[in-house]
Amino acid sequence: MRSAKRTTDGVALPYFLQLSLISSLLSSRMNYSRFLTKLSQNRQPSLIRELTNLLTDASPELVFMAGGLPNPQMFPFQAASITMKDGRAITIHPKLMTDCLQYGPTAGYPPLVKKLKSLTERLHAPPRWADTDLIVTAGSQDGLCKALEMMIEPGDFVVTQEPCYTGTLSILNPFEPRYVAVKCDHEGMNPKALKEALSQWKPEEIRDVKTGVPKVLYINPNACNPTGVSVGEKRRREIYDIASEYNLIILEDDPYYFVQFGNLKDFPPSFLSMDTEGRVLRFDSFSKVLSSGLRLGYVTGPKPLVERIVLHKQVSILHASSMSQVLISELFEMWGEDGFLKHTEAVQEFYLKQREAMLEAAEKHLTGLCEWAVPTGGMFLWLKVPGVSETWEMILNRALKKDVILVPGRAFMCDPTTPCSYMRAAFSIVTPEKMEKGLKNLSDLIREELELQKA
Ligand code: PMP
Repeated sequence: MRSAKRTTDGVALPYFLQLSLISSLLSSRMNYSRFLTKLSQNRQPSLIRELTNLLTDASPELVFMAGGLPNPQMFPFQAASITMKDGRAITIHPKLMTDCLQYGPTAGYPPLVKKLKSLTERLHAPPRWADTDLIVTAGSQDGLCKALEMMIEPGDFVVTQEPCYTGTLSILNPFEPRYVAVKCDHEGMNPKALKEALSQWKPEEIRDVKTGVPKVLYINPNACNPTGVSVGEKRRREIYDIASEYNLIILEDDPYYFVQFGNLKDFPPSFLSMDTEGRVLRFDSFSKVLSSGLRLGYVTGPKPLVERIVLHKQVSILHASSMSQVLISELFEMWGEDGFLKHTEAVQEFYLKQREAMLEAAEKHLTGLCEWAVPTGGMFLWLKVPGVSETWEMILNRALKKDVILVPGRAFMCDPTTPCSYMRAAFSIVTPEKMEKGLKNLSDLIREELELQKA
């Protein structure tokens, strides 16, 4: 008798549904089980979710009595028309409305997944495309959280850039990880610093070890949150090689990819595009270019890892909002890939103007008080205040009295007890007039702080 795996619904998973899982594990040269937590390894497919997948491309003859799908006739919504800023409209006719309102596959709305695969193949040409999968998540944060939860056990070592996106630290901190913090400079993560941080281990001794050694490297390579700068191609190749030497999975968190200032053809290659070994999980987001409230992102990476994220989604959110997915899919239908990329150019132009206004205000008010690198994209200016060794108190206790607020740099540090002389100012929604006022107020605040220090 064939041994049947147990599903999360507590029933045995039929042989034909096990096949896809087993083949994806075998198809890879890497041993991914080293990277998976016990909890993640224990995840088994939900039978009902897997059967629901049969609905995709189902024959009209199929009598589907397997799922607990509510009857859409009883949903009160009929159709919709969404007016675009250019005057056109996306029409959601009644049949499409059913897709918007009904449960769907955990990996994502198939027409959208297809379009995102095409876009990803075009932009990143992943070298191991046949062994790579792409799934839709509820924003990139959802994918990032599930990926980290799939690989991190309490107390594990985690390699991350510092400063680091607070959303990532918030996922990691409850695990009480031992951070291997790699300092970033004005070009992002420095491979020399990465090598130095890993020098306490010998690569050949830890490559296959499951516990007590680093296995995951987190990096936000483009227009980084909070530093605003990007890692150049040479550094990326060196970082990839180091990850390969130490057998690390690279988490490429790239929500600002489409908000880099410059031509798409000149963007530095993504880690996914250089992943010949199957060690990159890439996180994309629509939040910065289409909508943050629709909550859509996508994860691309080695099938055995992506599959674990899908199993987690099967028991958490089931899938990202169908309404959001259909809307973005229809948008791509209307615009095509070229139209989408043209839109991202307009987004870049907008933020570039914002950056210019911010830099102008900074030159005027912060020269001599702060230092900064010019952001290569995104929406943040990372300010160093050389005269103030810790900006936390100054900002949180007194900035509001000066009618300005920003984020103290310590919020982005792996060890929140380390004093930090930086702060992050967002230039995304502030008008140039308000930037001028805000940075003038900030300069008053810093001068006051410097006076207090003298007293
Ligand atoms: N990563 C980084 C570096 C971010 O700045 C953000 C958004 N603040 C996210 C992930 C999460 O974005 P999303 O809206 O796609 O979940």
